Amino acid sequence: MHTAERVRRIKPSPSTAAAQRVRELKGQGLTILDLTVGEPDFDTPGHVKAAAIRAIEAGETKYTPVNGTPRLRAAIAGRLRQRHGLEYTDRQLTVGGGAKQVIFLALAATLDAGDEVVIPAPYWVSYPDMVLANDGTPVTVDCPEADGFKLTPDRLRSSLTDRTRWVVLNTPGNPTGAAYTPAELRALADVLLDHPHVRVLTDEIYDEIWYDDGNNPSLAAVEPRLTDRVFLTNGVSKTYAMTGWRIGYGAGPADLVTAINTLQSQSSSCPSSVSQAAAAAALTGPQEFVRDTVDVYRTRRDTTVKLIGETPGLSCTTPSGGFYLLVNCQRFMGSSTPTGDRIENDEDFARHLLETQQVAVIHGSAYGAPGYFRISFATSTELLTEACARIAAACAGLSERPS
Ligand code: PMP
Repeated sequence: MHTAERVRRIKPSPSTAAAQRVRELKGQGLTILDLTVGEPDFDTPGHVKAAAIRAIEAGETKYTPVNGTPRLRAAIAGRLRQRHGLEYTDRQLTVGGGAKQVIFLALAATLDAGDEVVIPAPYWVSYPDMVLANDGTPVTVDCPEADGFKLTPDRLRSSLTDRTRWVVLNTPGNPTGAAYTPAELRALADVLLDHPHVRVLTDEIYDEIWYDDGNNPSLAAVEPRLTDRVFLTNGVSKTYAMTGWRIGYGAGPADLVTAINTLQSQSSSCPSSVSQAAAAAALTGPQEFVRDTVDVYRTRRDTTVKLIGETPGLSCTTPSGGFYLLVNCQRFMGSSTPTGDRIENDEDFARHLLETQQVAVIHGSAYGAPGYFRISFATSTELLTEACARIAAACAGLSERPS
């Protein structure tokens, strides 16, 4: 079968590939401690499920407006107003099959061949491939751990060209958990104000899984002069443990939203009607679930950060949000295993953890972070504790890097 050039340019998501490998090993009867999972381990709250069942029984089982039901759009507008003081009209909001689809359609709606998208690294694995799939050119910008894994104004300035269409800002970020402060966002905005042809796509999917004081700030609210150039994306997947319901949303300039809706009307027609009813209930209903689960994630984060910090040769930066930890394993690059194999890179290191200790993690290179690996702490404290002990055992078996 002939496959199109745009498909040949991209690869399946490495996290999906890792999940597949874990399933295979489990199928062989091995007990794998799985730290690759990119979704909450909690069940969707009961009142959200009940709203979906009510929607089915009330016959809300037909196509909805392309850009989502009025009820869900009102719920999204309400949330953005309440949380950030942002005002969006109906024409500035759209709902899609997950934030992933909304981001994909935003790129599809705006990129022509050769248009550039600035992606700070470490990045969520899908951004570069989504850009490539839509004929664009990803411009990844290294943001070292010394800078908190964050884009600095200087690095932003030197990455912009006449062809730059978008800068992607994922805050709090996957895989680092790093989040931009209002002052950092303002400093980036100062650079962007000199480049009016550039728009900013903010991916705020982890914004409510937040451990620091106050709220995760949103660029659109922090810098009003930039609001009409920001496309804010978010969804219910992570906050409300609703990854399988596939509802995400975008808020931004009406011309962009109209273009996204046109693409949506000719591709999926609309997101699932039942899932939209559930998402509206999640956004407008009781929020205890969010507070309670964030408390649990915080305990897991603290446990994991401590255990990794105690492991000779490993280190990590404490995340401000999300449920991932990016662990620095550079000390072991170039080391040897007890059986004499060399650990050349982070992929070898992740394989060593899986094969010798049955701990599954994702190698950092998949996120543009060579010399690191990602742990998801969206799993039980017991499992995390056991996995960290095994990771320490795997490290203890490695020779020091030759100096
Ligand atoms: N952005 C980031 C940074 C993510 O990690 C994910 C989920 N892995 C998404 C977007 C997509 O979320 P959704 O389920 O809403 O498509």
